[in-house]
Amino acid sequence: MTIKLYYEDSYMRDFRAQIIGLEFKDGVVQVVLDRTVFYPGGGGQPHDIGVLTGSEWKIRVHSVYLVNDCIVHEGPFEGIPKIGGEVLGRIDWNRRYRLMRMHTASHILGYAVKRIYGLNTGFAGGLLNVSESYDDFNTRISRDDLPMIEDVVNDVVRQNLNHHQVWVNREEANEILLRYGEKLTELHEGIVNVRIMKINNLIAYACGGTHTATTGEVKGVKILKRESKGAGVTRIRYTLLD
Ligand SMILES: [Zn+2]
Repeated sequence: MTIKLYYEDSYMRDFRAQIIGLEFKDGVVQVVLDRTVFYPGGGGQPHDIGVLTGSEWKIRVHSVYLVNDCIVHEGPFEGIPKIGGEVLGRIDWNRRYRLMRMHTASHILGYAVKRIYGLNTGFAGGLLNVSESYDDFNTRISRDDLPMIEDVVNDVVRQNLNHHQVWVNREEANEILLRYGEKLTELHEGIVNVRIMKINNLIAYACGGTHTATTGEVKGVKILKRESKGAGVTRIRYTLLD
C-alpha cells in the first residue's frame, strides 16, 4: 500500500520515501513507494510527472498509475534502484499547480451550471489539462449564456473562498451531497471513506483529486466555447486567465 501524501497536503512538492516494489521492463523501471506525492491520475486530472532520486540512481517519472492500493511510478532510469532504498521524490510543481487551479475551476464551473440550469443538472465527465480543459453537462447550454456562466464562476473566484476536505462514511456523504445536487456515482463504488471537498457552504462534491486551498488561487476563468455532444449534452471548453 502507498500512503497518498497528496491527500494530506496537496501543496507538497517533494518528499522522502522507501522503495517497496520494483520491476524492470522494456527499458523502464516501475517503482512502488511506501508514500508518495505523485498523483496517479483520476477524476479527469492527469497524473503527475517528476523525478525520483536515490544515492546512485535517478528515474524520470513519465507515468504514474494506481494498481490496487499501490501507486506505480514508471520511467527511464540511470543507475540501479533497489528494494528498500531511500528515495527523494519531486513532482513537476508548475504543471501540478496549474492542474490544481484548473481542477478547482472545473468544480466552480459545475456549480455555476447548476445555479443557472437547476440543481439536478448532471456532470457527464471532463478532462483537465494545463492549457485548456473541458467539462460535459447533461443540459443544453446556448452560446448566449456563456458570459453569464463565466460571471458566476469568476464571482466565486473573486470571493476567495476557503476550499477544504472532509472524510465521511457513504451515508453521511450522500446526505451532504444531496443538498448540493450531487450524489455518489459508480466512480465511487467500493469507497468506504468518502472524501468530500467543500467550498464554504456553497459547493460540495466527492472527489479524490488535488485542488487549491482557496478559490482566489484560480485567479480567473475564460470560457472559450461550447460544443453540442448530442443527446442533450453540452461540452464547455475553458482556460485560466493567467
Ligand atoms: Zn476535484
